[in-house]
Amino acid sequence: MTGFVVVGTDTDAGKTAFSLLFLTAFAEAFAYWKPVETGDSDTEKVRRLVPTTPVHEPLVRFTEPVAPPLAASRANRPMPAAADILTTLPATERPLLIETFGGALSPLTDDTLQAELVRSFRLPVVLVGSSAIGAVGRTLAAIHGMAPFGLRPAAVVLIGPDDDYAAGRITRFADLPVVGLQPPPAEWTSATLAAAATAQSGRLAAVRSAVTPHAARGAAPATLLDADARTVWHPYTPLQPADAPLPVVAAEDEFLTLADGRRVIDGISSWWTVLHGHRPPAVMQAVRDATHTLDHVLFAGATHPHAVELAGHLLGSMPWGPGGRVFYSDNGSTAVEVALKLAYQASCHRGEPQRTLFVGFENGYHGDTFGAMSIGRDPLFFGRFEPLLFRALQVPLSAAALDAALARHAGEVAAVVIEPLVQGAGGMRMHTPVELRALSDAARRHGVYVIADEVMTGFGRTGSLWAFEQADIAPDLVCAAKGISGGVLPLAATLAAPDVVAAFDTPDRSRTFFHGHSFTANPIACAAAVASWRLLEAGRWRVDVRRIEAFWEQHVSPLAALPGVTDVRVRGLIAAVELDVPGGYLADVGGRLRRACLDRGVLLRPLGNVLYSLPPLCTSNESLARIADAMGHAVRSCGG
Ligand SMILES: *Cc1c(COP(=O)(O)O)cnc(C)c1O
Repeated sequence: MTGFVVVGTDTDAGKTAFSLLFLTAFAEAFAYWKPVETGDSDTEKVRRLVPTTPVHEPLVRFTEPVAPPLAASRANRPMPAAADILTTLPATERPLLIETFGGALSPLTDDTLQAELVRSFRLPVVLVGSSAIGAVGRTLAAIHGMAPFGLRPAAVVLIGPDDDYAAGRITRFADLPVVGLQPPPAEWTSATLAAAATAQSGRLAAVRSAVTPHAARGAAPATLLDADARTVWHPYTPLQPADAPLPVVAAEDEFLTLADGRRVIDGISSWWTVLHGHRPPAVMQAVRDATHTLDHVLFAGATHPHAVELAGHLLGSMPWGPGGRVFYSDNGSTAVEVALKLAYQASCHRGEPQRTLFVGFENGYHGDTFGAMSIGRDPLFFGRFEPLLFRALQVPLSAAALDAALARHAGEVAAVVIEPLVQGAGGMRMHTPVELRALSDAARRHGVYVIADEVMTGFGRTGSLWAFEQADIAPDLVCAAKGISGGVLPLAATLAAPDVVAAFDTPDRSRTFFHGHSFTANPIACAAAVASWRLLEAGRWRVDVRRIEAFWEQHVSPLAALPGVTDVRVRGLIAAVELDVPGGYLADVGGRLRRACLDRGVLLRPLGNVLYSLPPLCTSNESLARIADAMGHAVRSCGG
């Protein structure tokens, strides 16, 4: 669906005057819909005065000019919720001009405001107000009132005599284009509207261009891509890439909007960072709120409420008693580095400095810094750096293999590092909770710390808040990053169990953990993470993970029957299809699979011969179906 939504600063702000002028100017190009109508019928007015515009019937109409939920209860009728209204969206080729009632914060039902409906349309918004005295304050109040719902107008229209002062102040404070429009001076007829629209055609065109997605934003893609190619070095991308990067101009829920107006489904949650969906309103609002009082402040010898609150939440979810601590950093690799250093230093404090060895698992991935590379040791990614890496063991992911390695190196190993239940970057390889439990038991038997790298699996992705919970184990160190702030800002945390912390808890200053990053515990990122945590606490994620997992089982698991497919794996939000093609990660099948999915409007980035999806929690069943369809299409056209 395309089009835009007309929202008023309040009742009688001039929404209908604007709609009539706009539709008169572009009668052939738009259709009109006012889903909820009270009092005099604007729908009838449009039908009468702009007969060339197709008009869709309102879903609910009350003759009494009061708030819709009140009118509904007086008329003894139910008031439909935003989701019900959305399902009745008229199917139309033409872009819609959707007119709302009252203001954005007018009640829609007894417990929701109209802003929720406006947001669910996912269309640009034009804010209409009167230019009469008080326009600046009214307009700014409306803009700020909409912000918590993730709504920001594309343009402001002031109806009435031009007020350059008001327009200038609104632009200054809200950084938005302001367009003045005057309704016909006398009676409203098709003829007087046509005259007024013609006289103000430039202004009406400005509004139209502000709500046309590709015209609205940023540099033209050719210029952008050209400048990008000359100046930017992208991660995990050759300097002569097979495909140009996607120019992304907006993100919302599971969608990315590209510069050409296309919307693609972000089927891998922007490298596994986005948790609830892009720009979750509560998290974005927490960021805005936090910026009113703080930016970055140092975290050595200073503290702030956001970091403390978040630490309390994180520790509260650990299987330890009191005494654990959270060490903040800003990405998954540093969270792992901190865990490695803590494990070794704790060993030293316990009188075992000879424990200089770490154990990782084959196909494990823990990040791109030197410690993380040493544990992960992927030959393709990190083989080049092999001469620079420190000593670490790579064992097959089995309790017997781990047990044998720890026996062979008795007394030498500081910690075992594992991605619980799913080895992500190594190809979404999965093991069972029973196997995980056996690995942890083996480490315990040999007196070795267990580091759970939950950077990908954390925050519900495998069906439990932390993946390790399913094995009923208690790691000594837990690394969290990607999903921690809901995907809004970079942040990471290394959680240390009480016994690790105790090894540092002495007046001896030489036992300090000498580690820290400039942006440790950035307050804005911590505030985002607290808001994201509260969303998790509300519990809706459990329903979504189950829904998505069941969907994968029904619609992706059957791909196992296709020729060329060697395995299909599903756990929680993750669905992975492994193809029987030679060449591993560098196999150009990866690029072909990616392109095939993009053709179907779905962004996926295969890990070599493993095509997978890990979508945000909010992803609708309709979008899941599009992802599954794209995966099937890609496998059929590239596999076998
Ligand atoms: C992505 C990832 C990392 C590294 O995180 P970055 O933020 O990319 O440095 C570490 N461990 C696991 C399991 C990961 O998936």
